[in-house]
Amino acid sequence: MTLDAERRATLALHGGTPVRTAPWPSWPPPLDAAQRELVTAVLESGRWGATQGGSACADLTAAFARRSGVAYGVAVGNATLGLFAALRGLGVGAGDEVIVPAYTFVASATAVLLAGATPVIADVDPVDLHLSASAAEAAVTPRTAAIMPVHLAGSPADMDALNAVAARHSLAVVEDAAQAHGATYRGRPIGGLGDAGVYSFQSSKAMTAGEGGLIVCRDEAVHAAIWSVCNLGRTLDGAWYGHPSVGWNLRLTEIQAALLLPWLDRLDEEIDRRNAFAAAVERELAAIRVPAGDDGGDPPVTVVPPPPGATRDSRHLLMLRLHVPFDRSFLLEAMEAEGVPLDGGYPPLGTMPALTEAGARAEPCPAAEAASREVLWVRQSMLMDDPSGATHLAEALAKVLAA
Ligand SMILES: *Cc1c(COP(=O)(O)O)cnc(C)c1O
Repeated sequence: MTLDAERRATLALHGGTPVRTAPWPSWPPPLDAAQRELVTAVLESGRWGATQGGSACADLTAAFARRSGVAYGVAVGNATLGLFAALRGLGVGAGDEVIVPAYTFVASATAVLLAGATPVIADVDPVDLHLSASAAEAAVTPRTAAIMPVHLAGSPADMDALNAVAARHSLAVVEDAAQAHGATYRGRPIGGLGDAGVYSFQSSKAMTAGEGGLIVCRDEAVHAAIWSVCNLGRTLDGAWYGHPSVGWNLRLTEIQAALLLPWLDRLDEEIDRRNAFAAAVERELAAIRVPAGDDGGDPPVTVVPPPPGATRDSRHLLMLRLHVPFDRSFLLEAMEAEGVPLDGGYPPLGTMPALTEAGARAEPCPAAEAASREVLWVRQSMLMDDPSGATHLAEALAKVLAA
């Protein structure tokens, strides 16, 4: 080897040359002119709250409901509260159980706790890592009131299979759409496929206002109930100081809605961009062999496929599965040093003592446990890069896995 080739082959972690030195795109993307204009207009109007007659929250809510294929929506402060309000509006509370997947963000379960109900953690499909319909059905008890499919990483959950389980046992369905703005399942938008769907606008999500959330639903009475939960127990046409039920102020601000509304015009373009990067990663990974040059074996890293029925993956994250033994913390450190930082992903919910101590019940979850060992994520900001960045990702992975 020449000295140069040797330096390139040496891990950056050990003083070699990193595969990538250019920065990845930042998240959120820079403000665009439409956001600047609308946010400024809201700020100058003085109508910063949603109860002062401004239209940003109402417009955002209507746009999300329309895009989700349903009639109603309620904008809220974040998706954790949105999931709570959706459950509560659907009548889920103390004494009820709600089935959640084992491989998801912790808020899917803590929202159930906030509603006073018991999260029942069921395993995910071993291949696509979304809530398994058979595991969910096996977890049903006489106390089960609802099921919470999560559209993980922007890939739609298999809603036909999960809705069928819900129908057989008369369960409500709350879609956790926090990661899946713009995804479609069998040609239909997610969010509107269950009784309620909840989006997040937290700073890491595909559309963000720093924080924020939005609930969509099909049914008028369900909307009225969820709206009331988010508006201190008021009724839609009732008095300001009339509070026939218990509720809270969970509202989004007009300033946040003004950041989000123009984003809807570029969401599809951004999803296309992330999908182009993901497709390039998939092509590049197919060519990697460990040891290098071994054409007989299978690729050591593959892309986690979406569940059946996915027609548009919004690619909030790209999940990769490693099929060779590796030291997780070494791989994450070495990739970061190569200039291609990856994310370690979720621990299975059932292994979190805080949840089980708070009353969550965990079914056996071998598939989620395998995912927590074998799956790594490519973050959204990296997916926003030009597809040529996929070459850096594959090159760095091949280099680190061969070390
Ligand atoms: C981000 C996220 C949430 C919580 O959203 P917040 O707006 O941060 O409360 C819930 N579920 C999933 C799957 C998420 O990724």
